[in-house]
Amino acid sequence: MDYQAILEEIHEEIKPEIGRGKVADYIPALSSVDPQQFAFSIVTAEGERYNVGESDKNFSIQSISKLFTFTLALDIYSRDLYKRVGVEPSGTPFNSLVQLEYEQGIPRNPFINAGALVITDSLITHYHDDYKAFERIINFIRDISDDPTVSFDPEVSTSEMDHGFRNLSLAHLMKSFDNLDNDPRTVVQTYFKQCAMSMSSEKLARAMLYLANGGTDPLTEKVYITPQQTRRINAVMLTCGHYDASGEFAFHVGLPGKSGVGGGIVAVVPGKMGICVWSPALNKYGNSHAGTLALEKFVEKTGLSIF
Ligand code: GLN
Repeated sequence: MDYQAILEEIHEEIKPEIGRGKVADYIPALSSVDPQQFAFSIVTAEGERYNVGESDKNFSIQSISKLFTFTLALDIYSRDLYKRVGVEPSGTPFNSLVQLEYEQGIPRNPFINAGALVITDSLITHYHDDYKAFERIINFIRDISDDPTVSFDPEVSTSEMDHGFRNLSLAHLMKSFDNLDNDPRTVVQTYFKQCAMSMSSEKLARAMLYLANGGTDPLTEKVYITPQQTRRINAVMLTCGHYDASGEFAFHVGLPGKSGVGGGIVAVVPGKMGICVWSPALNKYGNSHAGTLALEKFVEKTGLSIF
């Protein structure tokens, strides 16, 4: 298949949709991002790379980071992790508090904010302090993207901390239900740092390869997690990766995928490739508007859906 031609076709067709929607202005440092940007990258299990648009421009990965911390925590705690966080779609927005109260501080899944906070908390506990936990997170992301220069943007994490009242509420609520080991502020701060990781679409597509290949990087042959754990992560991505639009994403795209409010969406074609699309303007669910449509076009043109 001529992936380069397909990506160029999508880029052309998607142009009227780029910029439609709204950038994430609840994080002030992200409100000034130019909404007219777009990139689409594929990296195959054989290491072939295909790109269109601004595929080497770094953006804030935001909730895509939840995928990487989930991987690390699953590797450490195995199924004990599920005592603290579930694997059911929430049907609620990513930062909702309501369900958490009536389900006694156990978040529905690792991809809503409450679940991701529990996961980050579990890493801080395991590594005994927040700096060591963050160092592990950043090194893992460098490893899977095969790029030692990947880093985070402190301006974004500080800006989010200054306005992080809702995430602090989630953390405090879980602490009250005894589902947080560490200081809520420390957990939220570490979580904002992981969200502020800055990467390009090409790097993120590369970073998805271990999930496309049963937990082992097909290019470096590093083993990160088991094939069974990989299936579980991909399943949770498919059912929960787009919050209360996860059903829609499965319906229209049909690939395990994870979005972030920086406008990035990563997806996996099991056995074949890692994908990342980026366009900062978001739909009402906080997922990239043009990015979602571009992925829909991609599966229509290639037939590469898991269904
Ligand atoms: N850091 C963001 C938040 O907690 C991440 C949300 C997202 O990307 N959906 O609000």
